[in-house]
Amino acid sequence: MAFSKLGLSDPILKAVSELGYTAPTAIQQQAIPIILSGKNLIAAAQTGTGKTASFVLPLLEKLNAAHYGHKLRAKRIRALIITPTRELAVQVAASISQYGQHLSLTSMAMYGGGDEQSQKQRLLEGVDILVATPGRLLDMAHQRALHFDELEVLVLDEADRMLDMGFIGDINKIIERLPAKRQNLLFSATISQDVRYLAKSAVNDAMEISVSANSSATPEIEQWLITVDKDKKSALLSHLIQQQQWQQALIFIETKHGAAKLVSQLEKRGIKAEAIHSGRSQAVREKLLADFKSGELSMLVATGIAARGLDIDELPKVVNYDLPYQSDEYIHRIGRTGRAGASGEAISLVSKDDFKNLCAIESRLGHIIERREIEGFAVKKVVPVSILNFVPKSKR
Ligand code: AMP
Repeated sequence: MAFSKLGLSDPILKAVSELGYTAPTAIQQQAIPIILSGKNLIAAAQTGTGKTASFVLPLLEKLNAAHYGHKLRAKRIRALIITPTRELAVQVAASISQYGQHLSLTSMAMYGGGDEQSQKQRLLEGVDILVATPGRLLDMAHQRALHFDELEVLVLDEADRMLDMGFIGDINKIIERLPAKRQNLLFSATISQDVRYLAKSAVNDAMEISVSANSSATPEIEQWLITVDKDKKSALLSHLIQQQQWQQALIFIETKHGAAKLVSQLEKRGIKAEAIHSGRSQAVREKLLADFKSGELSMLVATGIAARGLDIDELPKVVNYDLPYQSDEYIHRIGRTGRAGASGEAISLVSKDDFKNLCAIESRLGHIIERREIEGFAVKKVVPVSILNFVPKSKR
């Protein structure tokens, strides 16, 4: 299928073609016509499927078509995209600028940690599309720095992640302030019971679409694991990086402290790495991300939350130095690699302590992850083979 069949106008098609996109992805083929028709939508799509463009393109189309003669009033917005993290807000806003470069719509990203005064100043003129994190958004609404009475479309992006991060209260308070007549779009990597519950209050009468089987990750991603004693993890990682001559990898770790320690352990073995976590300033995080994207920085160690929303194309390797507690988080992480058709590798270092998490992840995938052995790293504490119908206590 060609982009031109989707009902998007020339300035948008031009921008998409300049970005080198030749055909819409599956989620784009399904979502764009539904959104253009004005219906509410719930979409199950992971990062890496092209989900951002699947709502940004039709949103631009609709707002642009209704733009002529429309004068935005002060502090008003026409579309609101709520994201769980500032990194994702910045990323979505960047996509809006790219896809909308031949249009005259305005947009901005608004998040905690950004300069509040300059955000307020921008809002004074009115903004067509506002991308915001829940806390700062609510704060601005309380301060009457923005009003929702002209809002036409609400997008909840990565809804499952917002619930995991405890934003449900803020989101409900925001939704209460929105005009009743609006279009609602909800995107989520997984549609859990909690997401359904949120969808019920925010997105009723929605069309529902899904692009990936709920239980499996993208097939182009090669997943494997190595069982290893906990105290040997950093030596093993250094060994893999050096022996296999890795060009670039995003390494997930559980804690801030662990991230800093791993960076120094890698550096002692001559491997340059940097850590990205919530303890580092926004400016430092942005700089590290830019260096990582440009290839200047090859090893980036990240805590799960900090890494959320990082848009890094065609990343060859993702490493779970620690396995995540949530199996959905594993799916999100491996979605960072093999994006938009490129192939990738997801490698997990699994110690006996990670066994419960491994069971939950493999049950969620519906299959066991291939195990590989690395010479010189035989384990003392064996990790048993998972029981695939394992259900974590919290979900029973
Ligand atoms: P997302 O799932 O929104 O995070 O998008 C993943 C990546 O796919 C982004 O880097 C996009 O630039 C890219 N992308 C989105 N749509 C397409 C398309 N139709 N063809 C090629 N790449 C795309």
